[in-house]
Amino acid sequence: MKEEKVKYALVTGGSRGIGRAVCVQLAKDLDYQLLINYNGNKEAAEETLALVKEAGGNGTLLQFNVTNGEEVRSKLDDWHEANKNGVIEVLVNNAGIAKDGLFMWMSPDDWSSVINTSLNGFYNVTNALIQKLLVNKYGRIINMVSVSGLKGTPGQTNYSAAKSAVIGATKALAQEVAKRKVTVNAVAPGFIATDMTAELDESELKKMIPANRFGKAEEVAHVVSFLASDKASYITGEVININGGIYS
Ligand code: NAP
Repeated sequence: MKEEKVKYALVTGGSRGIGRAVCVQLAKDLDYQLLINYNGNKEAAEETLALVKEAGGNGTLLQFNVTNGEEVRSKLDDWHEANKNGVIEVLVNNAGIAKDGLFMWMSPDDWSSVINTSLNGFYNVTNALIQKLLVNKYGRIINMVSVSGLKGTPGQTNYSAAKSAVIGATKALAQEVAKRKVTVNAVAPGFIATDMTAELDESELKKMIPANRFGKAEEVAHVVSFLASDKASYITGEVININGGIYS
């Protein structure tokens, strides 16, 4: 008898912020086991898993640093080896960092670490999984970009470049894999209240946001959950803004 496949959704940077909200929303909305990736914060990842279980879902933690291509590939290979009946159908490339500062004073490390996390992280994880998604003839890839990748934000030349590049990659890859029922989309949040924006002065910044507030991680997670669902089967190569009207 053929063994039933167990379907998984992998969320990179699922330990905190938007990634955590995405894990919980996917657990509520869709029939996937969660693979919760984190880099260093195991405790926070465990808390995400507890929230996933509270929401009626289940999952496991999968530690890897998205910037380390070899580590990503070997951890995913090991996971597939240990989960012969597991199939990763949804990949949310969410892990990202910001190292803001004026370009004039931007150090090589501030430039490359931001690019390595968002852009090379996208390559490392997606490339390690793409063949399996194509063989599966069904998949959802959702890339967390930013309004900065569309309009460019002063003080974020590195971050804007990284997110802009991921938008280009999203559009190109979408066309390569559409025939196999694999969609590739990007979600572009504006200011969302997470650790990443914790140091920012919301009371001052909200004046330039038409909705007059920062967004919530859960609001972003709803968009991701829709794109990850079967309902979004004819949407691909798209960038969905979620920014309270700050840019369109
Ligand atoms: P956050 O609260 O700072 O969380 C970042 C997450 O990424 C954490 O789970 C962290 O894991 C993980 N991560 C960072 N570097 C990693 C690496 N090298 N390998 C694996 N995981 C790594 O950030 P957030 O605000 O939720 O942002 C999530 C995504 O949304 C990012 O791509 C960000 O650029 C994007 N975004 C955020 C905003 C915003 O306003 N917050 C706006 C637009 C776009 P650990 O917990 O292990 O450190």
